Amino acid sequence: MRIGVPGEIKNHEYRVALTPSGARELVDRGHTVVVQQGAGDGAGFADSAYEAAGASIEADVAALWDGAELILKVKEPQAEEVARLKPEHTLFTYLHLAAEQQLTQGLIDSGATCIAYETISAVQGGLPLLAPMSTVAGRMAVQAGAHSLEKAQGGAGVLLPGVPGVAPARVTVIGGGVVGENAARMALGLGAEVTVLDRSIPRLETLDDRYQGRMKTVFSTADAVEEAARESDLIIGAVLVPGAAAPKLITREMLSLMKPGAVLVDVAIDQGGCFETSRPTTHAEPTYIVDGVVHYCVANMPGAVARTSTQALTNATQPFVVALANKGWRKALQDDIHFAAGLNVHAGKVTYAAVAEAFGMDH
Ligand code: NAD
Repeated sequence: MRIGVPGEIKNHEYRVALTPSGARELVDRGHTVVVQQGAGDGAGFADSAYEAAGASIEADVAALWDGAELILKVKEPQAEEVARLKPEHTLFTYLHLAAEQQLTQGLIDSGATCIAYETISAVQGGLPLLAPMSTVAGRMAVQAGAHSLEKAQGGAGVLLPGVPGVAPARVTVIGGGVVGENAARMALGLGAEVTVLDRSIPRLETLDDRYQGRMKTVFSTADAVEEAARESDLIIGAVLVPGAAAPKLITREMLSLMKPGAVLVDVAIDQGGCFETSRPTTHAEPTYIVDGVVHYCVANMPGAVARTSTQALTNATQPFVVALANKGWRKALQDDIHFAAGLNVHAGKVTYAAVAEAFGMDH
């Protein structure tokens, strides 16, 4: 199969959909891989590394799209990319269509087969192509929080692990899913005192079991959140209510209960944020202060570590890419119902129920 990998054009997107080692896996199976010149630069993968893996480099982006049957991307296609899509194309990328009617219509009009990373499911539950980015964001949340606690960032001037004779910082993670567990694990590793709040008892049981009581688990109630606000040096918001905006768990009034210079890291900001005073920020200016509390609310946290994120994402996408290349999309999806859950748009129709329902369309 002829596989094209365009460079990402969305603002501040440095990831790439295929690494040189991924290209090699495809070339070794007899496929043709064409990568846009410079596509891997932001993630630290040079054109020469793709060439060494047997891929070819194409400077002309129109020629790359025209010559490919399978297009691999990271972010949803931007307007100029939608215009390049043809019925012969299979597109494999993050789409997040439910909130993007114009993009959905563009994909319908293109006639292409569009498979979304984020709706592919797994035998063991969860969303296997979203989880790697949640893992990255969860681990980064502690780095971001630790940095924000420094005096120069407006923080209280507290070191997470403390030192001998000085107590460690108190870290509360609200939401103990993929982001939350990874954040809690990092905070534990740095020597902080860690509490995780969740509304799911099975989730709290898993964490209690896995970490053998080294982190406190607390059922998430308004009282528990208020106590966390009073006691914590760093609070990480990592809740997700599927299909809904994040609940506002820390209100503006609760900020007055918090220690001066305490830090809120709102990882759930991409779902609207779980603190009332959260608003999306960027890596260029990640924090702001409200009532003496530092807020870090970067919506695309994994973008800051583009190399690690690219590797983590492509490790997860690679088996699906190989199946698409070897079998073609129809057979690959027929053989795997979890992969089939990724099909969002095909031949001018939305095929994914939640997206069709969001826009009152047939599916
Ligand atoms: P997840 O489904 O694995 O975990 C969410 C957890 O929140 C679940 O365990 C759930 O029981 C819990 N929860 C729901 N309501 C709660 C409440 N009121 N109190 C306490 N816990 C509650 O989801 P995830 O993959 O960990 O993602 C968490 C959030 O992080 C999502 O909003 C996701 O979109 C976001 N995210 C953001 C970035 C970023 O760059 N900012 C990157 C990745 C993920």
